Amino acid sequence: MLELRPNCECCNRDLPADSAGAFICSFECTFCADCTQQHLHGRCPNCGGELLPRPPRSTAALAKYPASTKRIHNPQGCNKVLTA
Ligand SMILES: [Zn+2]
Ligand SMILES: [Zn+2]
Repeated sequence: MLELRPNCECCNRDLPADSAGAFICSFECTFCADCTQQHLHGRCPNCGGELLPRPPRSTAALAKYPASTKRIHNPQGCNKVLTA
């Protein structure tokens, strides 16, 4: 089951679990569409893996299987890619 982290690791933007627009790698490092496309070019800065669209979880499923509320904000990783 996906953790569904609540925010973008780069810019700390909220990424609701029930809507599209979030991108994740195989370790669930989580980024918004803007950071994924403009800064990261579809690669996770932490593990080098491919970032793919995260499937939204329905409201009914969220009631039963809540999304993670633990925010992970790691802007250094994003700057590393920007200057690479
Ligand atoms: Zn972002
Ligand atoms: Zn990763």
